[in-house]
Amino acid sequence: MAQRTWQNKLKLRWRNIQRPCAMCGELTRRYLCFCCVKDLPLVPAKNLVGLLQVHRSGLSPFRAALAPLWYHHSVPRFIHDIKFRGAVEYLNVVSPFVVAQAIRFYSTHQLMMPQLLIPVPIAPQRLSERGFNQAELIAQKVGIALGIDVKSLVGRQTHQKAAHRMTFNERTNLSLKEFYRTEEAWPEQVSRVAIVDDVMTTGTTLTAVKALLKRKNIIVDCWAVAITPPPKFQEGEV
Ligand SMILES: [Zn+2]
Repeated sequence: MAQRTWQNKLKLRWRNIQRPCAMCGELTRRYLCFCCVKDLPLVPAKNLVGLLQVHRSGLSPFRAALAPLWYHHSVPRFIHDIKFRGAVEYLNVVSPFVVAQAIRFYSTHQLMMPQLLIPVPIAPQRLSERGFNQAELIAQKVGIALGIDVKSLVGRQTHQKAAHRMTFNERTNLSLKEFYRTEEAWPEQVSRVAIVDDVMTTGTTLTAVKALLKRKNIIVDCWAVAITPPPKFQEGEV
């Protein structure tokens, strides 16, 4: 009993600790202050597959593409801090948005959720520099919340130029040699999967990962925290 009281006091004190908001630096009891949450560029819970350049060029193999945030406004800096400054605790802010978007989307469209999440891998060199794969951490957090397993069925072997610095043609030509199928066995009974990344841009990386999932009759969706709107895109178009 004494121990429980001590733990409750600690929990209460922890809840009252203020910390700088991850976006504006204002002190807040959460990771993001109320104003920054209100200002987040939210995407409607719609299928975004039509926004992917691979889809427009007739290559899209995805049933659905989901992302809760547009990759502009404060979001790029936020993602940058996660990837390059090791602010992995910010994943606690963005992962619930992915979870909420998935629940809204699949229930609204009466679609079956994926049974497995497959994170987009990063190259070993980058993994050793960074210490983590952000897509894998996102998949794990989202997977725990939705009760979906995560498996690294695809690995990456070469260190290429960062995807965001590539032209569309360079991305389209992403060699399949860059990715490989790991030795992880395909889980029995799984016919619906989602490939998970931090940011969706043209969809070429996701397509390259999908190409290695050589299974008949599987449904593949892709999920990300944010999506880069195509050039000249108006948010009302979604
Ligand atoms: Zn703020």
